[in-house]
Amino acid sequence: MSRVVEHLAELTAFRDRDVLDVTLVQALRDLLCVHAVAIHRCVGEAAQGQHWLTRARLGPGDVTATADPLWSDMESLPRVESTPERFACLARQEAFCLPGPPACAYFPLDTEREAVGVLEVHSEEPLSNGDIRLVSNILRIYRNFQGLLDYSERDTLTGLLNRKTFEESFLRLCAMPQAGSAPEGGAEPRRALRATSWWLGVIDIDHFKRVNDGFGHLMGDEVLLLLSRLMRTSFRFHDHLFRFGGEEFVALMRGGGESDAAVAFERLRGNVERYAFPQVGRITVSVGFTELRAGDSPSGAFDRADKAIYYAKQHGRNQVRHHATLVAAGELSDTSREGDVELF
Ligand code: GH3
Ligand code: MG
Ligand code: MG
Repeated sequence: MSRVVEHLAELTAFRDRDVLDVTLVQALRDLLCVHAVAIHRCVGEAAQGQHWLTRARLGPGDVTATADPLWSDMESLPRVESTPERFACLARQEAFCLPGPPACAYFPLDTEREAVGVLEVHSEEPLSNGDIRLVSNILRIYRNFQGLLDYSERDTLTGLLNRKTFEESFLRLCAMPQAGSAPEGGAEPRRALRATSWWLGVIDIDHFKRVNDGFGHLMGDEVLLLLSRLMRTSFRFHDHLFRFGGEEFVALMRGGGESDAAVAFERLRGNVERYAFPQVGRITVSVGFTELRAGDSPSGAFDRADKAIYYAKQHGRNQVRHHATLVAAGELSDTSREGDVELF
């Protein structure tokens, strides 16, 4: 019993989802004395096909858990249908055991909003009823804890990350080790940031006041919810999407060059323009985006994208504008450098 309590204390010790998943597989392998435990998340949107991203896996003899890279290319991940039992568990939201040998037990993982993945336990013998109850109860605690994290990090209307989380996410992403960067603890954040580009885009609904005035606040909220869904389908699963304020959204994207970023934001703009919002009809968005710089502060980067969006609003709306291109063309002056913290 005390070992269970110790593991539960460990499980809820950090407000970090990566650590949480690793801690969960460690706890279960230790408590159940089984071969392997893994957490597979379902990523991507149903319309485009969903894939498995392994969040944490402890195999036989593994000392540390392994996981798929967070930035995995979707097409490199197995499709959900490729593992029928796991897929059945996700689809039916029901735990079940295959007796084997080797035996395998599947437990659905969900949040208040949706089914999110499957926990898999591989063992020589099928799990006993007591073991199954233990896993189910630990998963209830895991779910409750995830719910608390969601409550503090997510916007209640759209489920996107909230503004409070933006700064933390921004600083964390910038601090992540990149390919070709200095070793951990190395004093070269400037080069580390250059190795992989990061893009920040601000998305603002055009003439949103007219939606509220013409159709009421509730319909306005419905539009915000539908727009957040369009954002999810327009960006990749690992991009970070925030609801920043009323009808203002932010996307933090990794990788690619300026044209890749422009294509992604343009895809969203086009998807919104083509979408028929119930009752309201057509709406459009304006987007301003910028590449993150070494030493950028969250507000410094946001201000550049905001200037680009202001330009878009002044020049007809329903368009995507890149801050550096506008500066190079002499349309905007780049004052943000002065405001940023220069580290070197
Ligand atoms: P622009 O094209 O210049 O962006 O025009 P706009 O009408 O969108 O202008 P602005 O950004 O100033 O107006 C935003 C409006 O969004 C004002 C406010 O009534 C509405 N709004 C803010 N938060 C919410 C919300 O949570 N729900 C709803 N329904 N409306 C909101
Ligand atoms: Mg607006
Ligand atoms: Mg606005």
